[in-house]
Amino acid sequence: MNTGWNARSRLVWVSMNPWIILITVVVLIVLALWVPRFRLKRAISRPFPGEWVEILERNIGVYRKLPMPLRLQLRRMILQFLYQKNFSGAGGLSVTDEMRVTIAAQACMLQLNRNSALYPGLRYIIIYPSAFVVTRTELDGSGVASHGRKGLLGESWQNGKVILAWDNVLSGARNFVDGSNVVLHEFAHQLDSETGSTDGAPLLAGESSYRSWAGALSSEFEELQKDTRFGKRSLMDHYGATNPAEFFAVATETFFEKPRQMEKHHNELFEVLKSYYRIDPSNWLE
Ligand SMILES: [Zn+2]
Repeated sequence: MNTGWNARSRLVWVSMNPWIILITVVVLIVLALWVPRFRLKRAISRPFPGEWVEILERNIGVYRKLPMPLRLQLRRMILQFLYQKNFSGAGGLSVTDEMRVTIAAQACMLQLNRNSALYPGLRYIIIYPSAFVVTRTELDGSGVASHGRKGLLGESWQNGKVILAWDNVLSGARNFVDGSNVVLHEFAHQLDSETGSTDGAPLLAGESSYRSWAGALSSEFEELQKDTRFGKRSLMDHYGATNPAEFFAVATETFFEKPRQMEKHHNELFEVLKSYYRIDPSNWLE
């Protein structure tokens, strides 16, 4: 009798087993999708600390000029950025909230109104106290390779890493009108690299966007190359003439920090960047 009952229950168990396995798998998948979203939602909805607002007002030159809806949007994005990205200090530097908030605010400024994932490929931000020295092999115009050490203020890597020099981050953030900003520069490279290659063309909406992008950026890039060759003063830093990727990063710095001049003297480029970044920084000026 016992044997018969055991055999029947074994049979029921075996026949139910695929269902139990299936339900377990579904529950695990739902949990795997839901838990990170829940945690992110909780991180974003927590109150933005008052001390962080003071940091923004003190360190981000343009913060007080942003319309209130953009400020609130920026604060939510900063919470998300700080939740998702890892910061670490190098060269003896200890990372503080002031550093994290100041860097996150400028990085997130490039993503305002864009409703896209916040630098999905980026995981680490490494901060040095000041310019850091790297060893690089570079090719000159004639293909000759040179190997040397040089000091950098910032660097963006395609493997999910941005490196920054804090003293330059701070001076660039406080002076938001000189067209020079290492955080905007390096994070423009991050946006550019989301296509898989860093070539001055980030992800755009459609074919026509790529056409107007290529049209505006290539003619302005050639113009800047000419100015650089002849030592002529230009609105954008001559470093932008290095290659199309550097041009996009430098044009981004100019767009955010010298919008009126760019709108006046490089209107086509200004309009293309305005439609890409979905904001108009010239509205933020008094
Ligand atoms: Zn660059």
